[in-house]
Amino acid sequence: MDTVEKRVHAFVRVKPTADFAQDMIKFGQDNKSIDIYLKKDAKQGVVNNRQTEWCFRLDGVLHNASQDLAYETVAEKLVSEALNGYNGTIMCYGQTGAGKTYTMTGTTADYRHRGIIPRAIQQVLKAAAHCADRFVTVRVSYLEIYNETLCDLLATVASGATGDVPLAVVDCPGGVYVKGLSIHTVNHEEDALNLLFEARRNNLIAEHALNKNSSRSHCIFTIYIECNFRVLSDVKCLNSKINLIDLAGSERLSKTGSEGQVLKEATYINKSLSFLEQIVIALSDPRRDHVPFRQSKLTHVLKDSLGGNCNTVLVANICGEAVHMDETLSSLRFATRMKWITTEPVVNETCDTWWMVKTLEKEISYLKRELAMHDSLVNRSLVTYDPLTEIQIADIKSQVLKYLEGSIDEIDIVNMRQVQEVFRQFKQLVSQQEQEVEARLRSKYALIDKNDFAAIAAAQKAGLVDVDGHVLGDMDGQDLGTGTAHFSSKHGGKKIKPKKTKEQGRKEGIGTSSSGKEMDVLLQSKTQVITSTKDVDVKEGVRSQDAANIDTQPSKLASLRDSQQLSSPPSKPAAFEQFKKECGSEINRIFKENKSILLARRKRSGAVAQRLNLMKQEMEGIKEALGAQRQERWQQGEYVDETGQIIIDEEEFLLIMKLKDLKKEYRSDYAELQDLKAEIQYCQQLVDQCRNKLVSEFEIWYNEAFLIPKDVQDTLKPGGSIRPGMIPINRVLCLEQDVQDGFERMQEAALPACPDSLSFYNAKMRAEQKHTYARAMGSLEQMRRKPGLITATMRGKS
Ligand code: ADP
Ligand code: MG
Repeated sequence: MDTVEKRVHAFVRVKPTADFAQDMIKFGQDNKSIDIYLKKDAKQGVVNNRQTEWCFRLDGVLHNASQDLAYETVAEKLVSEALNGYNGTIMCYGQTGAGKTYTMTGTTADYRHRGIIPRAIQQVLKAAAHCADRFVTVRVSYLEIYNETLCDLLATVASGATGDVPLAVVDCPGGVYVKGLSIHTVNHEEDALNLLFEARRNNLIAEHALNKNSSRSHCIFTIYIECNFRVLSDVKCLNSKINLIDLAGSERLSKTGSEGQVLKEATYINKSLSFLEQIVIALSDPRRDHVPFRQSKLTHVLKDSLGGNCNTVLVANICGEAVHMDETLSSLRFATRMKWITTEPVVNETCDTWWMVKTLEKEISYLKRELAMHDSLVNRSLVTYDPLTEIQIADIKSQVLKYLEGSIDEIDIVNMRQVQEVFRQFKQLVSQQEQEVEARLRSKYALIDKNDFAAIAAAQKAGLVDVDGHVLGDMDGQDLGTGTAHFSSKHGGKKIKPKKTKEQGRKEGIGTSSSGKEMDVLLQSKTQVITSTKDVDVKEGVRSQDAANIDTQPSKLASLRDSQQLSSPPSKPAAFEQFKKECGSEINRIFKENKSILLARRKRSGAVAQRLNLMKQEMEGIKEALGAQRQERWQQGEYVDETGQIIIDEEEFLLIMKLKDLKKEYRSDYAELQDLKAEIQYCQQLVDQCRNKLVSEFEIWYNEAFLIPKDVQDTLKPGGSIRPGMIPINRVLCLEQDVQDGFERMQEAALPACPDSLSFYNAKMRAEQKHTYARAMGSLEQMRRKPGLITATMRGKS
């Protein structure tokens, strides 16, 4: 929608009179200005500052102008723009008898003297009849405002009703309208004119009967135009209206000298017109943000027509006689003020929703047919695109569940709706899980927001978390993935009370943090010398067969670990350094070696690539030089020997040879670069593998060396129920207490009687462990992903 800022157009129409004050009123050459000269007021004395000359510039001065010319000048453009969707307002302003009604309605006696309203009706209906591309509906209404009362001038005309429903001015997003005002569809010019004339006749009768004075009422004739475009794809609809306003006489109250009932009427008229003047002043001041449109019925009805988005034209009707000079001056002042109001006419375009729905339905059915054709071309004739049924949705849900369980590898999908449903189901399941995990956590722990420093401080005060925000004490076997908890273990096999650790500057180690499960096991274990089964390094070949051996022959490392086990495990970075020096030294050596080879290859490859670039540049240079040589030779004429061979000079020959050598060298270097690239890729893989190996070996070593209690170590020993390194340590540690208890009880009961059953029960236990592990890991993973939570209070804190 394009908006063009415009101004209100103001014209003056001078009523022809025999007493025209020629010495007082002068017209400009261009018919756009009018000068007023007043004789000095003798009463004011010799020295008076009263202005005696005025010059008013307007958009046009109509003097001795016919009704034809008046319409052409004032209304024609505005009406044709209304047919294109722009609202328009034409107002006639001036003292009683100055020709407002003549200009607006004209006389009914002579066709040539018809005014703006009948002419506008004619223009609109003619255009409507000749519009080939649109359906135009024209409707009219006629409103009178008298003594702040709204009156429907067409209510009785068309329906014969008395029209006693009170009318009201209503603001709505689409603009101001008069609620209850009758609006009549007119198909022919004659219908519309009939309504107009009937209304005027009835009004004259009413005026007489009610002793009212039409010069004190404002009459607004409105033409509503609705255009629907005939083209199917075009769903837009233009709605515009033209307000044609015959304002009440603008003469000042003092002049009429009215009294009683008449005075009241006069005051009212004056009031609403003076409100109109206030509004005009407010609108022409760009700094004014509030314009009091609702002060009077007239200004309220004109809200859209003055301040807003429509084309507005004012006609100031003046009398040419000297006696009316004061009123003439005030009308001209009003007209010039109106000229300063800016408007932003916009096309009133709306969407015909019914039309739009029809068009879209058509489009959809067309696209469906198109899709069906494409499907049949690729043999997908069974695919449907309708919304999924309940049964189909249930089927997708069960497939998603099976997929998550691992019992199916693929989910059947043939169309977009199914894809969306699959994602929806996944989303639902994830949020369900989240809620469950959170609910479980909340039932066990008090959760504190990581960023809630006050709460953390309180928890610290209560001794629930250490200064680093790490949780102290019994973890009840759950890990929330929020950091490593550090514990001091105590002899005596009792659970340890929460205790603050003063260890500072410890960072989280490499890999996963030690889980709460691990801590729990640690806490519950009887304190004893725990040896690592992983220090039985393959490379070193020092596999310890007997735990007792270690007790009797403690290595330096073992004793170090013992002491650490007794207090707390070392930080992971420190332990990693230790690991690299000891058990991990071989892997570390290979890792470093591979890395240095990789680096060397990279360096070499960089150098070769650089050389290749230089060579390329050089070759380009030679090629250019050769080109120039050839050009020169061709221009000077070529030498040809007896065999027809072209003879070239030495310089060109040398260049050719150089280029040949360079090409050879380039090819060989290029081949080398390709080889180097392959080598680099291979080396990179080796380095990555070594790094992973180093880290994973370290993890196992760390867990076994510092975190596994003695009884678990026993199971891990060769000949024990679990082979070290094969099952991640977490699996062993997440063994639930009741499962272990049960197993121990079962062992006590069953094993002595039947020693052969050992493998059977071992296998069964392993299966149970695996199941428990899978469940626990699932929950842990969920918890890790939950942001912003740290555990603070532990259950059973003593
Ligand atoms: P208003 O509505 O401003 O009170 P009217 O339109 O009723 O004034 O005009 C008063 C009289 O002057 C009417 O008889 C009208 O026909 C006549 N009159 C006004 N303007 C013109 C004009 N331009 N040419 C001829 N007659 C006019
Ligand atoms: Mg009038």
